[in-house]
Amino acid sequence: MNEKTKFGSLCVQELADKKTTKPHQLPIYATSSFEFESVNQGIAIFSGKQEGHVYGRYGNPTIETVAEKIARLETFGLDLEAKCMLTSSGMSAISTLAMATLKSGDKILTQGNLYGGTTELFTKTLQPFGIQTVMTNLKDVENVESLVKNDPNIRMIYFETPANPSLACVDIETLAQIAIRYKRLSAIDNTFCTPYLQQPFKWGVDFIIHSTTKYLNGHGNSIAGAIVGRDIAFMNEKVWKVMKLAGTNCNPWDAWLINNGIKTLELRIDRHCSNAMTIAEFLEKQQQVKKVNYNGLQSHEDHKLAKKQMKNFGGMLSFELKGGLDAGIDFMNKIKFCTLAPTLGDVDTLILHPASMSHLNIPKEIRERNGITDGLIRLSVGIENVEDIIEDLEQAMK
Ligand SMILES: *Cc1c(COP(=O)(O)O)cnc(C)c1O
Repeated sequence: MNEKTKFGSLCVQELADKKTTKPHQLPIYATSSFEFESVNQGIAIFSGKQEGHVYGRYGNPTIETVAEKIARLETFGLDLEAKCMLTSSGMSAISTLAMATLKSGDKILTQGNLYGGTTELFTKTLQPFGIQTVMTNLKDVENVESLVKNDPNIRMIYFETPANPSLACVDIETLAQIAIRYKRLSAIDNTFCTPYLQQPFKWGVDFIIHSTTKYLNGHGNSIAGAIVGRDIAFMNEKVWKVMKLAGTNCNPWDAWLINNGIKTLELRIDRHCSNAMTIAEFLEKQQQVKKVNYNGLQSHEDHKLAKKQMKNFGGMLSFELKGGLDAGIDFMNKIKFCTLAPTLGDVDTLILHPASMSHLNIPKEIRERNGITDGLIRLSVGIENVEDIIEDLEQAMK
């Protein structure tokens, strides 16, 4: 710029950054591209000889700083390194991973009670590309081993633990070790636990998926996802390339919100866990309640397994009202304090009646096979004062 620069040009021009001291908080780099200082620098960066940002879809400092935080949390205290990439949603983390690891003819071995979007992605979107999904009971490890052993096309074992809404757990160590023994891949959706409660790399899993939309962000104000992998070269080459070319990258604004949310992760999860335990114990004593699904309870069939692989039992629980569909609808209509919303992991308590809400269009026998009975209520227990949540549940049950 010189003194002859016209008014309109001055309006357009980007002035030098006035930063003099390091910002205390991570800046949001709202830029779609990055400047080269010279042709030679451009050549060096494009040819991979020098590290440098080029274009926002390939990478951005805000996004990468937050990704590194998640990689370090997933490997905290473990003797290994991992690489994380942030994506535009939890679903895009899963689809990016699938595109990076699978090809036509491959099969995914998984469970029937996955997050609904994941089941649909596998069976509807990936199926026409020649990728088949085999659903089985992943708790039956002998059956899992024999399926893997006898079918070389099973390329990946994909699982969720605890699963929605029954909080059923599968044994991470056993599944990861089967994958290792038969030279296949394993991937886990760790959204419900976050690395604070469960670190799947400890048991030998290859890839970890997060919908950061839930507990990692925790405040219900952004949609994003993460893929974390132990094979850093594979992450940097294959996964990065798919993210860049399929355009499944995160954006700096959502990354910044995740960063903000993660700062209180430990505090929030401790409170989610203690509130959920108190509520589960309260619900177990209510005569209107037939069953409580919370793996912190001795009565939960996976209590021991949850204890082995989780640090605490999380903030998700579900319970079944004795009166079926009518009781469920009546209960939901009376709720005042909790929020009726189809997400989870926020700081406030969220409540869902799957039979009349998320699973309304799914045939009764199919939803019941996955434990979603007429009277089932799902709670994402928040971090409020637990007395207020209990009071609301109590009055709604009357
Ligand atoms: C919400 C969720 C997803 C999908 O994540 P989005 O961020 O909504 O795309 C995947 N897995 C689990 C367990 C979830 O709860």
